[in-house]
Amino acid sequence: MNTQNNAHDVYVAGLRNAHAMEKQALSIMEPQVSRLTHYPDLSQRLQSHISETEEQINRLDLILERLDESSSVIKDMMTSASGSMAAMGHAAASDEVLKNTMANLAFENFEIAAYLSLLTAARLAGDTASIQPLEQSLEEERRMAAWVEEHVPAVTETFISLKSAGETAKR
Ligand code: MG
Ligand code: FE
Repeated sequence: MNTQNNAHDVYVAGLRNAHAMEKQALSIMEPQVSRLTHYPDLSQRLQSHISETEEQINRLDLILERLDESSSVIKDMMTSASGSMAAMGHAAASDEVLKNTMANLAFENFEIAAYLSLLTAARLAGDTASIQPLEQSLEEERRMAAWVEEHVPAVTETFISLKSAGETAKR
């Protein structure tokens, strides 16, 4: 098989993985938003990234349709379940918001790597029409990663001050 055929296979697998990854992203962020009460900035940013993530899923669906491929329901379900379990595990912790914030930063960076790899495969597979939408998703992940990174100190300070005031600090 030549490079372009191999690139096509890697690309299609990458698109399905990215689709499952974005479903997992929703399963990580949605429970956080529904539980957060003391961190309005974080809640708002998560809500807007949930909307972006829904668009990212649409973009991937459109690309897969155009290539006559479909996303994997099984893969989506498995990765969503692991995301929900991670969020549930953190909900039990007394420092829930801190654990979630660290996990959010790790996840956004994972997404950046996934889109960088996917873009490379797209170029080698010759799918030039998909470069722009995938670049847009990559840019959204970079902005979210930067936002979370910038806000780790503020979230930690709020956590400590709520705790000192005897209020609920964990969510
Ligand atoms: Mg995403
Ligand atoms: Fe993201």
